[in-house]
Amino acid sequence: MDDQLVNMRNIRFMLYEVFDVENLCRFPYYADHSKETFELALETAYQMTHEIFWPAFQTMDREEARFDGQHVAAPPAMHEIWRQFREGGWFAPDATYENGGQQFPLAVYAATLFLFNSGNTAACMYLNGTGGTGRLLESCGSQELKDLYLLKLYSGEWAGTMALTEPDAGTSLGDIITTAVKAPDGDYYLINGTKRFISSGDHDITENIVHPVLARIEGAPPGVKGISLFIVPKFRPNPDGTPGAFNDVATTGIEHKMGLKGQATATLVFGDKNDCRGWLLGEPHKGLKYMFELMNHARVFTAIQAVGQASAAYHCALRYANERLQGREITSKDPTMPPIAIVNHPDVRLMLLKQKAFVEGCLGLILYCAGKADVRKATTDPDEFERTDLLLELLTPCCKAHGADGAFDAIRTAMQVFGGVGYSEEFPVAQMLRDNKVFSIYEGANGIQALDLLGRKVPLKAGQAVRVLMGEMAATLDEADAIEALKDIAAKVRETQDAVVGVTMHLAGVGMSGDVALYVCNASDYLEMFSRLAVGWQLLMQAVAAQKALDAGSNEQDFYQGKIATARFYANRVLPHAIATATILKANERTALDFNPAWF
Ligand SMILES: Cc1cc2nc3c(=O)[nH]c(=O)nc-3n(C[C@H](O)[C@H](O)[C@H](O)COP(=O)(O)OP(=O)(O)OC[C@H]3O[C@@H](n4cnc5c(N)ncnc54)[C@H](O)[C@@H]3O)c2cc1C
Repeated sequence: MDDQLVNMRNIRFMLYEVFDVENLCRFPYYADHSKETFELALETAYQMTHEIFWPAFQTMDREEARFDGQHVAAPPAMHEIWRQFREGGWFAPDATYENGGQQFPLAVYAATLFLFNSGNTAACMYLNGTGGTGRLLESCGSQELKDLYLLKLYSGEWAGTMALTEPDAGTSLGDIITTAVKAPDGDYYLINGTKRFISSGDHDITENIVHPVLARIEGAPPGVKGISLFIVPKFRPNPDGTPGAFNDVATTGIEHKMGLKGQATATLVFGDKNDCRGWLLGEPHKGLKYMFELMNHARVFTAIQAVGQASAAYHCALRYANERLQGREITSKDPTMPPIAIVNHPDVRLMLLKQKAFVEGCLGLILYCAGKADVRKATTDPDEFERTDLLLELLTPCCKAHGADGAFDAIRTAMQVFGGVGYSEEFPVAQMLRDNKVFSIYEGANGIQALDLLGRKVPLKAGQAVRVLMGEMAATLDEADAIEALKDIAAKVRETQDAVVGVTMHLAGVGMSGDVALYVCNASDYLEMFSRLAVGWQLLMQAVAAQKALDAGSNEQDFYQGKIATARFYANRVLPHAIATATILKANERTALDFNPAWF
């Protein structure tokens, strides 16, 4: 197996040279940190990725999660990964000291998660759900619930999940039917219902599992405004914090999936014996609002999963392309000449460059968002809070959906570089492709992300989020314009930005005219176009930092020139597609809307 899954030089370049994460330490919240603690985290994550996550990547696929009719056994390798993750305090290092965290910046934590996910994303899902459940409790749980659960979760003693989906309510969460009836003699509700597709829903890694569950309190209004959020443990905690009585949360099966086979994706029945207790989180009927706060976090995590794996596939393909000898130079057909490494064939080089540009650009977008989340959390300036909040609202669906689709496409391309052996399960890229597909489906299917972007985020505060983002882009463009060597790249990004702004205004007109169906019919293409612009902007930002380093006399010519060439490649080869999409979206094309279902 390959041992290089990510380019550490690239991660450090982004963190320190592009985003200047050390500057986050100006906020009191992060004041105990420095480049030294960041480096320690990155080094440890790199080591763990290659020593424990990656070696279990294929074994967890073969020795998948198992269900014996009652209990679920996680793949054996997962126990050791959990143990080491726990020992290192990796579940929620961004949380406050008070709650058991280390007040560590998300931007650097995201980089470490990117590393772990490049090695083994199925394993990371067990870990991430636990931190997520803790974050929910932190944001809306009562002190009593926090005292009972938070440290257990953040220390990894207990595990967490996220239980939303039901057999008849996936995307449409307003239709969930799980019920919650207030117990006459206690502070809890009796929960009754079935949840499907619950990641890490059951396993034998921890002695207890804590489920945040969406359910409907008796008499609640219909739809999303009648959904509440409950904490439902597998075993009810005793007053001394040990797991007590079984809480009537039964596992009835796990999914047999095409990928992420090491993951126990369970169907859970709550209250089969009418003895499942749930404790309300926050106020009644506000469950979906609380859950969405966590989902934004989870959506960026999905992007990290997807792009982390695309990075691994790219590095495997790159190594293979340098080793695999096949054919001769296009200009020399002499059969007596030795064969050349396939990296020398223009088409293979093009395939590699497409992957490199996507991985580095999209990772840039993810780390940019994580850094903004750090600022939002720590700033005391209301304007700064508002700006970063708007940027995150706008860019989160782009990270999730474009990250997922782009990663799948990049891994498909990596498989192509491998030729026939890529299609064989002996090489990791086949599993990567299988594992990766789900990222466009869960955490809100990509079509729903597109509706979120065009339907909710773009119109937010009368377009204010878009204006803030365009302002950020303009600052990068001005900087790039002042650098002779980058003017051509900046011009392409600016042209794309103009096209995106133009089509955004056009679609606003469509929306205001009342043609809602036409408006939303453009959502997926709009998201792709918008995200490509965002990735092109990120690559330009990286090119600016690279040119500055070259001008300062750096001796890392290959690294920095590679950065600039990657930005130029994306601007010349990918951004024109975004401009073409803008033209299509302005044409009010409505065939899909007018297409009679009977014509299929
Ligand atoms: C491996 C895996 C892990 C998962 N983990 C979890 C978990 O931990 N917790 C959890 O709660 N759930 C989990 N899920 C469930 C996942 O979130 C849902 O599968 C997802 O939300 C889609 O719901 P669905 O499968 O019912 O598809 P549907 O809702 O039936 O959607 C099918 C298609 O129709 C489209 N569609 C549906 N409604 C609309 C609409 N109004 N407008 C436009 N398009 C629409 C969708 O975009 C999609 O393309 C997981 C799923 C998988 C496969």
